[in-house]
Formats: sequence, structure tokens, C-alpha cells
Amino acid sequence: MHFGGIYEEEAVGKVYDRRLMGRFLAYIVPYRRMLVTALLVLPLIAASKLAQPWIIKVAIDEHIVKGRMEGLPTLAAAFLVVIFAESILMFAQVYLLQWVGQRVMYDIRVKLFSHIQRLSTRFFDQTPVGSLVSRLTSDIEVLGEMFAAGIVTVVGDILVLAGIVGIMLWMNVQLSLVTFSVLPVLIWVAFAFRKWMRLAFRQVRARQANLSAFLAESIGGMAVVQLFNREREEAEEFRRLNASYVEANLPVITWDAALYAVVESLSSVAVALIIWYGGGEIVKGTLSFGSLVAFIQYIEKFFSPIRDLSAKYSIMQGAMASLERIFALLDNNDREPASMPAPEATPATAQACQGSPGHALQSICFNDIWFAYKDRDYVLKEFSLQMKRGEKVALVGETGGGKTTVTRLLSRLYDVERGSITIDGTDIRELQLPALRKRIGVVLQDPYLFSGTIAYNISLGDPEALKRVEQAAAVVGADRFIRELPKGYDEEVRERGVNFSAGERQLISFARAVAFDPEILVLDEATASVDTASERLIQQGLEGLMQGRTTLVVAHRLSTIRDADRIVVIHRGEKAEEGTHAELMAAQGLYYRLYQLQFKD
Ligand code: ADP
Ligand code: MG
Repeated sequence: MHFGGIYEEEAVGKVYDRRLMGRFLAYIVPYRRMLVTALLVLPLIAASKLAQPWIIKVAIDEHIVKGRMEGLPTLAAAFLVVIFAESILMFAQVYLLQWVGQRVMYDIRVKLFSHIQRLSTRFFDQTPVGSLVSRLTSDIEVLGEMFAAGIVTVVGDILVLAGIVGIMLWMNVQLSLVTFSVLPVLIWVAFAFRKWMRLAFRQVRARQANLSAFLAESIGGMAVVQLFNREREEAEEFRRLNASYVEANLPVITWDAALYAVVESLSSVAVALIIWYGGGEIVKGTLSFGSLVAFIQYIEKFFSPIRDLSAKYSIMQGAMASLERIFALLDNNDREPASMPAPEATPATAQACQGSPGHALQSICFNDIWFAYKDRDYVLKEFSLQMKRGEKVALVGETGGGKTTVTRLLSRLYDVERGSITIDGTDIRELQLPALRKRIGVVLQDPYLFSGTIAYNISLGDPEALKRVEQAAAVVGADRFIRELPKGYDEEVRERGVNFSAGERQLISFARAVAFDPEILVLDEATASVDTASERLIQQGLEGLMQGRTTLVVAHRLSTIRDADRIVVIHRGEKAEEGTHAELMAAQGLYYRLYQLQFKD
């Protein structure tokens, strides 16, 4: 239905990109000792692989054919020792590589997460959560595969291949040349395969992305799907995406299976050539029986790493694409605003905000601010507001007027474009972000609860706040319902608080604001999602919350702000009216009309 499919077109990158690999190496450097150890093991493994057919050849030529029993037990033992040594070395190598891989993945995850935490609200406005989650999970997992699949051991494979070619040539040049006559075909197949595989993979990744994006959306919105009876249509759409994913996989499977078959056949052709040509050589007396057996063994060892090549190839390709995306995110410098020297305030506003001598400082001061989320259309235009310490100011107005935006600017989720906001005479851009946010407690329109206990949700794990949990709950009147819960403050909150009512969630978020004991309080439509029955409860909670704090409250229900010290009406980003409830009612302007609308019954 809604699926046009604007999902990340998965870039199918190169198999090896020097720039990306160079950056990736920096993460491996701390573990270089382990990696070097793993690499040192490689020639030993290669040597033991090469030694095995040779021992068999010696046993046949020097002992079995000549009828000499002595020495055979020694060779058999040597064979065992070599095989055993190879197993031990393989274990060490796999363990070391994976050990390094796990640590590198751990480090990159930590770095990515802390980077994401410092990105700006604007960045999160534009980036789907799902794509960030997949950077931290599946993309990093793909990097791990590079270690698990033993990409590094390709070096070892090359050693083995070169060693086999060398030994075979040394044993018998002509037989080697005859055997290797299959190589051009093998090389051609490998190259052609690479190209086809690349195209097929691009399709698979793109369709896989569609599939997971659809699932995330459809499962996330399951209630809507069910309430509007859209299950059949959603299932139909899913079936379509699922089928197209399977369809994209078929060529990959075909090429994979074909490569296996071709490599298998070619190795059989090589063995047949050895039997045919080598057999003749034995009859002529120019090749030993043991050499023939060793040739066959070597050829098998020659073809097996080539068979694994396709798997390693696609893993490398995936890893490069993941690295590209991970580094792109790390390079994103859309940071949260830093503290900086503020532009000079105009004398007039400076005076309005500093207060005249002998008068108390204004606590919060918005001076002629302009702000836009995107280019052009301003959401706030020349907005000014002064608040004294301890004052309670209400923002009201139509939906979309810019009320929430004002609160976001105060806590610097965004920065003003023109004008300035000061707290106690200091431009908020000059304050350190954590210091600013410690002074402001925000209750969001849609309270966000985490999974964890109620106590955790109130304190968010802050040790100081934790001490004040029960006291804070009592101040806002949340303690009544919490104490009735089977486990009280230790009751678990499930995903986003689904096991609590909207009113209860709101009370928990009030308690959270109190527990952090801010001097300034911002409430954004805190009662909007609550039924009138709970409203009285919430209203009492609010009284406790606002006690002794400078409060900026955005209200939808005008009944909740009648006794505010001042009411400001925002209309299309501009301040339209300002005054007490009585003054605004008497003026019979916008506020009066809004009030009439709500209370006409
Ligand atoms: P209010 O809280 O008064 O209902 P807001 O401050 O939330 O209004 O929104 C003011 C305007 O800014 C609206 O037109 C809204 O569409 C727009 N807006 C709000 N948030 C964003 C955002 N994150 N990105 C782009 N535009 C936004
Ligand atoms: Mg709003």
C-alpha cells in the first residue's frame, strides 16, 4: 500500500578499498600483537598442509614400493604429528582472529554510540532510528564476519597455492604443466563469476532493506493495522516484498552452486589428466608411483581454497559497504551546539533583560528571536518574552503556532537564528550545555518512559535524584498510585510504559522533573493527553511541581492556566497578546475567543 520504497539503496562497494581499510586498520592497531601472532601461525599451517602429501610420497616410493618395512612406523607417526599440529595451529589462529574481531567490534560500537549521543536534534529529525540501529548492529556484525570467515587467512591460502605449484613443478615439470592447463578456464570462471555475483548481490541487499523497513513499520503500527482491518493488505504487501527478496536470491544461489560445480569438475579434470598423463610417465619410468599419489593429493588441496573464494568475496564486499556507512556516520559532524561567545545584544534588549538598577534580574529573557527548522519559513518571528524569577507564564495558541518550539529553544535542542535567549542575564549560548540543562526541568508533551523500574524512570539512574524519588513522587501526588502497585517503586515499566495509563505516565514524568530539582520548569501540554477525571489529580501534581520555580507552561486546556501570572498568546510564530487572564478576557481578542470556544457549553 504505502510502500513506494525510499529505503537506503544498499551500496554494493568494492571488494577492497584502500582508504576504508586504512581507517579500519587504526581500530586493529591496539590488538596488533594478537593479530601478528595469528599471522605468524599462517606459514606453519601452510607448511603442515604441504608436508602431508610429501610424507605419503616418501612412504610409497622409499618404503612400500621397495618392500622396506623399517621406517614406515616413523613416517606414519610423522604424518600424525603434522596433522595434529595443523589442528592445534588452526585452533589458535581461529581463536586469535575472532578474539581480535570481537574487540574491534566492541570498540567501534562504543565509539559509534557515543558519537550518536552527541549529534544534534536536527540530525535525529532527519534520520530514521532504524538505520542508526542497523549501523550499530548488522553493519558491525558484518565486520565481525571478516574475522570469522578468515579473510586474513587468504594470505595463508596464497602461500599454500604458491607452495603447491612450486613443489609440483619441482617433482615433474611436464606433468605439472599438463595438470595446470585447466587453470585458464578456472581463472576466467572466477572473474566472470565476480561480475555476475556483484550485480546479483546489489539486488539482494536492496530488497532485504525494503523487507526490514516494511517489517519495522508494520509491526510498529500493528494497532492501527488491526483497528482499520488492514491485515490482508499488509500481508499481501509483505508477500510481495518477501517474494521479490527470494527472487533476488535465486541468481546468487545459482552462481554460487555453479561455481562450486565448475570448480569441482575442473579439479576432477585435473585428476583425470594426472591419471592419464602421469600413468603413462610411470609406465615409461619417468615418474614414481608416490609422486603420482602426491600429485593427486596436492591438486585437491589446490582447489579447496578456490572453492571458498566466492564466500570470502561476498563477505569482503559486504564489509566494505558496512565500513563505508559506519565511517559516514562517524564523519557526520552535525553536533549538539557547543558553548560559544554570544553576539552583542542590542542595548534596548540588553536593558530589558538586565533589569534596571535596584530591580531584580529577569530570570529568563527571549529577545526578538527568529527561528526556522528548515530554510526560509520562520516558525518564530521576532518573539520576545521576559520572565521574573518564580513567575509562572503560560503560552497558549493554535496548534502549530510555535509554542513547543519556544520551549525547545530555551533548552537549546535548537539554537535561535537571530536574537538571543538569556538566563539571569547570561546568553544561553555561553553556558555549557550540561550546566544549562541541569537548571531546566522539562516535561514533554509525550512523556518517554524507559524499560526499568519506576524508581529508575524517576531518577534515570542519577544517584542524587535516586535519593529524592519517593519525596518527588509525593510532591506531585504520584505516590498514591505507585504504592498501590504490587511492587511499588520496583514495579517494572514495559516498553515505553504501555502498562500504565497516560495520566500515570505523566505523573511519573512530573516526579522525574521534581527529582532533578531544577530552578526552571518547562511543561509542554502536560495535561493534554489526560482525561478530565485524572486532570484534577494532575492539576494537584502540577501545583507541587511548580512550587518555587520559574515556570513556562504550554497549555491546551485553558482552565489549567487561569491563575498564571501572565498569559502569552502565540499566533503563527508571533506574540499576539500578553496579560493576565482577566486582562485578556477584558480585551476580547484572540484569547477571549479561544476561551469562548472551549467553554461554550
Ligand atoms: P505548537 O507547539 O504551537 O503546536 P510547534 O512549535 O510544535 O507548534 O510547531 C511550529 C511549526 O513548526 C509547525 O508548523 C510545525 O509543523 C513545525 N515543526 C515543528 N517541529 C518541527 C521539526 N522538528 N522539523 C520541522 N518542522 C517542525
Ligand atoms: Mg506543541
